Amino acid sequence: MSISMTGGCACGSIRYECTAKPMLEYKCHCRACQRASGSGFVPLFWVPIDKIELTANEPKYYAVDCDSGRELKRGFCPDCGSLVMFQPGFPGIVIVVAASLDNPSEFKPNTEIWTSSAQPWDLLDSSLQQFEQQFTAEDLSHIFHS
Ligand SMILES: [Zn+2]
Ligand SMILES: [Zn+2]
Repeated sequence: MSISMTGGCACGSIRYECTAKPMLEYKCHCRACQRASGSGFVPLFWVPIDKIELTANEPKYYAVDCDSGRELKRGFCPDCGSLVMFQPGFPGIVIVVAASLDNPSEFKPNTEIWTSSAQPWDLLDSSLQQFEQQFTAEDLSHIFHS
């Protein structure tokens, strides 16, 4: 099955095309995501690095220490400020900010993480798998999309 999910930042300077199904789709309620987005959570999905291509400009990256202790680089547009994609502290994966998709309804989260820092004004979805903090490598084997 051939997949093409396209997206980019609000001003159109950064554009990407993703040609694989997301491996993992989730909402992250950690404080770093809250601060970066100005909202209660950031909707995120993982794709293999060789299945996503930048078709316009590169994001600018800002390195942050995650609550999990890893260093993550948040990619955003230096012109319009939109969050677009993150480089996690491990190889082979790009984490895409789902709201940057041209059709964000393609995002189908099955998990919420860092619910311990979820805000009282941000409703959690009890139909999703929930983790109080970061998921572990073992958790991942259960929540990866097949
Ligand atoms: Zn932009
Ligand atoms: Zn987060």
